[in-house]
Amino acid sequence: MFMNRLPLLAIAALLVLPACTEVSADPSDPAHRLPPAVADAPRAAAWTDPGPTVDLPPNELGEVMVLEYHRLGEDEGPWVRRPENFRRDLERLYEAGYRPVTVRQLVRGEIDLPAGTTPVAFTFDDSTLGQFYLTEDGEVDPHSMVGMWDAFREEHPAWAGGATWCILPGADHPSNFFGEQPSREVPRAEREARIQRKVDHLVEGGHELCNHTMWHARLDRYDDAFVQDQIGAGQDSILAYAPEGYEITTFSLPFGIWPANRELAWSGRYRDGKRFAYEAVLEVTGGPNPSPFHRDFDGRSVKRVIVAPGALERQMERYDREPGLRFVSDGDPTTVAIPAGAADRVSATRRGERRVVEVGRAEFAP
Ligand SMILES: [Zn+2]
Repeated sequence: MFMNRLPLLAIAALLVLPACTEVSADPSDPAHRLPPAVADAPRAAAWTDPGPTVDLPPNELGEVMVLEYHRLGEDEGPWVRRPENFRRDLERLYEAGYRPVTVRQLVRGEIDLPAGTTPVAFTFDDSTLGQFYLTEDGEVDPHSMVGMWDAFREEHPAWAGGATWCILPGADHPSNFFGEQPSREVPRAEREARIQRKVDHLVEGGHELCNHTMWHARLDRYDDAFVQDQIGAGQDSILAYAPEGYEITTFSLPFGIWPANRELAWSGRYRDGKRFAYEAVLEVTGGPNPSPFHRDFDGRSVKRVIVAPGALERQMERYDREPGLRFVSDGDPTTVAIPAGAADRVSATRRGERRVVEVGRAEFAP
């Protein structure tokens, strides 16, 4: 969680920036949309077997959890999850009818899940070594979080979606691009090839790449120009490995701390007029979010549930006690299925985009 600042000269020397492609950050620019080949995890063929579902009426105005993970390790705490508990989180959520969506899919309301399931977004901050490392022969290590995710998805094809990985390209080891620190012993080309392999694996697996700034600066301590450079440089360094046309739409605030000029967290200019523009800004805390279809949802302040010991369990028990709070999909991504009488709570934008159907129980109206 706490990265030290690298001396600027050292950063300049380590920057792994193969000819940086400039990507238009203007969301209205049609050339800027993601080509289908690099969209996040598509609807799985797996819907033939949706896996465990809940017997609840559809409620697409219910709450959604965005989970937050940092490190993998034995000494569990707010920023560290034990490997067996991470595996158990996947299992527990799956059995209770939750299915992964990326933050991008969530904020866009692109929730294409079987009826009777609940979206949950997994976010991984700081690109630490335990999240993703390769074996000596270049395969995804099954003990890393990505390796465990892959194995779980293989066993449970209905767990089809991806997660959101908030990368620090230039922080200190082990938070530098999943532990790919510069080293005299490792030739630069070899290091870059490993980063490329990791980024390819994430994108091909339907995961989302998210920017967490270059090296985790406290954005309240710097002027506007520095803030935008720290965000822009992070974005460029990630995009250097992403497929052509890839768009980063999610930004995670280091320490959850906003810049003095708040809107620089979602929109800014840097380095000779390049731009960034984000649809989602991730806070560090805050609990579950309103549904992305609810008028109270704010993509520029997405709250999260830190997966500290017992925290996820408590949230899930809360939904067991009060099932009306929980988002439950109707299985049709073209409609917003809501409790009877709750149409006034659907956000005006979403009402314009999708057909709203009042099919759920009135007492479940949020
Ligand atoms: Zn962080």
